[in-house]
Amino acid sequence: MHILDIFRTSASTCSFEFFPPKTEKAANNLYQTLTHLERVQPSFVSVTYGAGGSSRQLTHDLVTRIQQSTKLTAIPHLTCICHEVTEIDDILRRYADAGVSNILALGGDLPQDRPAYDRSRDAFRHAVDLVRFIKAFNARGQHPHALGFGVGVAAYPEGHPATPNRLVEMDFLKAKVDAGADYICTQLFFDNRDFFDFQERCELARIHVPIIAGIMPITSVAGMQRMAQLSGGTRFPAALLRAVQRASHDAASVELTGIDWATEQCRELLETNVRGIHFYTLNQSKATLAVYDNLCGLLPHPFGVREPKPGSPQ
Ligand SMILES: Cc1cc2nc3c(=O)[nH]c(=O)nc-3n(C[C@H](O)[C@H](O)[C@H](O)COP(=O)(O)OP(=O)(O)OC[C@H]3O[C@@H](n4cnc5c(N)ncnc54)[C@H](O)[C@@H]3O)c2cc1C
Repeated sequence: MHILDIFRTSASTCSFEFFPPKTEKAANNLYQTLTHLERVQPSFVSVTYGAGGSSRQLTHDLVTRIQQSTKLTAIPHLTCICHEVTEIDDILRRYADAGVSNILALGGDLPQDRPAYDRSRDAFRHAVDLVRFIKAFNARGQHPHALGFGVGVAAYPEGHPATPNRLVEMDFLKAKVDAGADYICTQLFFDNRDFFDFQERCELARIHVPIIAGIMPITSVAGMQRMAQLSGGTRFPAALLRAVQRASHDAASVELTGIDWATEQCRELLETNVRGIHFYTLNQSKATLAVYDNLCGLLPHPFGVREPKPGSPQ
């Protein structure tokens, strides 16, 4: 399903992010997770993309397998880093042939095993260039869907570390939207005030595409520490740290604390009509499903169906 059709029919989208498993055992775990999460009927699931050689093919394989063996809409992530034009073109063709309708277009980070990688051979420096390339692919009619690929881009409510100038950063985000991005998916955050402020700044910058909020339930102290390292600057509010500290005598209590915090974040976001919530699942279903079930107990229709209104804004 094209992302514009998804937004037209959903008051708030619900989506899950996975990474492609590297071993047989991890693959089996992921398919268990997918089976568990399918009952929620998410608007879509997305699959991350590693810049390292072999894991690229894994993203393609997982996306096409999800498309073929489940009723889920799968959105592959695609990054600029370590790619020539012909490679990106080939990837787009293969996704178009496989009936994949949307792509999350990203800059990408340097692969951990290639910290000295020389980017001068890369076709695209920034995600905006990839968005333009996908839009040109669409314009040439190379995708069987009349609209071509739907395109998403990333954004950072608390700012991206590579651009300390937060005014200029909004210009770069606006450039991605002006280049044709259909929606924005945010980095995870733990304080909704950061997201609400980001939404307002988007309004001021005349960025009017739907913004999906990235949420990750904390499941362990070690996981929280790992996330602090990977997410590049995410703030952990004192109230959250205090709650985790109080629960830290017992692993199950920490998990419950993370679930409660994420539930409360989602409740408030949904009550203020967020256009979507994207769960960073780390390939596990338990915490995400617990948040989802909590929301069903708290709100009549957490991710309600939207009656299509011709000409209404996204
Ligand atoms: C929802 C989500 C999913 C992600 N999935 C993946 C994944 O699957 N694989 C992966 O490797 N990474 C992933 N990432 C991480 C992401 O690739 C990195 O954070 C990366 O550093 C930035 O990506 P971007 O798409 O925002 O890049 P860009 O939009 O290219 O921005 C990167 C930096 O460059 C700056 N910038 C943008 N345009 C310009 C310009 N024209 N001139 C100068 N500076 C500019 C931006 O302000 C920012 O600081 C994901 C992030 C998010 C939020």
